[in-house]
Amino acid sequence: MLNKPSSSDLANVELFVMDMDGTVYLGDEVFPWTLPFLESIKKSGRRYVFLTNNSSKGPKDYVRKLRKLGIPVDEDGVFTSGEATARFVKREYPGSKVYLIGTPELRMVFEEEGVKLVEDDPDILVLGYDTTINYEKIRKGALFLRKGVVYIATHPDVNCPSPEGLVPDAGSFIAMFRESTSRSPDHIVGKPNPGILIELSRKANVSIDRIAIIGDRLYTDVELARRAGAISILVLSGETKPEDLKRSETIPDFVVENLGEIELQ
Ligand SMILES: [Mg+2]
Repeated sequence: MLNKPSSSDLANVELFVMDMDGTVYLGDEVFPWTLPFLESIKKSGRRYVFLTNNSSKGPKDYVRKLRKLGIPVDEDGVFTSGEATARFVKREYPGSKVYLIGTPELRMVFEEEGVKLVEDDPDILVLGYDTTINYEKIRKGALFLRKGVVYIATHPDVNCPSPEGLVPDAGSFIAMFRESTSRSPDHIVGKPNPGILIELSRKANVSIDRIAIIGDRLYTDVELARRAGAISILVLSGETKPEDLKRSETIPDFVVENLGEIELQ
C-alpha cells in the first residue's frame, strides 16, 4: 500500500505544492512532523507553496492563518484558485471587463492583478465561493450568462467543510446557474483542473515536471497532479483511507502515512 519516494525519486523537484487541511494540519492542530518537513525542504535548497481551492479568502488571509498556527510561510507562499483565476483572465482575456461574484477579499485579488471589474456590460462572469452572495448578484449573473458572456468559475467544490458541517461552495452556485440558464462554466480553474497549477508554475517560474504535489485527497490533489503532469504524493493523514486507495482509478506516484516519511537530500 505505502510507496515511499526515495530522495533520488525527488531529486529533480524544485517546488513542493502543499495542500493544507489533512496534510499539514487537521482543523487547528498542526501535525508534529509538519515543521521538520518544511525545514528539510528549505535545507535542501527547494521551495514550498500552499495551494487552496477556497476563493472566498485571499492569499494574505491564509498567510496570516498559517503564521498564527506557527507554520513558516513567505509573503507570497499561498496560492488560491482566486489568484489563479485572476492571472488566467489577465493572460487569456487581456483588457476584458469582468463581473465578479465573489467576496471583498476576492475582489481585492482581482484588483491587485489589474483586472477591470464592472457592474454592467461585462465580457466575462467570474464565479467564486462568494460567502456574501445575494439575490441581486444572482439575478445579474444569470442575465449576463443569458447574454452569452464568457463564464469562468474559480473552482468546482460543491461543499466546503465548516466546524458545524458541510456548507454550499462554488460548485453549488454553478449548479444553481446551470438550472436557471442551462449554462456551465467555459473554464473552471481550481483543482483538479490543471489551470491552477499552470498559473502557479508561471508565477513561480518552475516547469510543471519539477513540481511535486502533496495532498490528502485523491480526486483533487492527486488528480490535479495527474492531469497537469506533476509528481503526486498522497498522505494518509487526512481524508483518504487505505480502502479508498484500493478502489481508486487515480493512482498517486507515491503514498506515505504522513509528511514525516518523506526524506529529502
Ligand atoms: Mg486536504
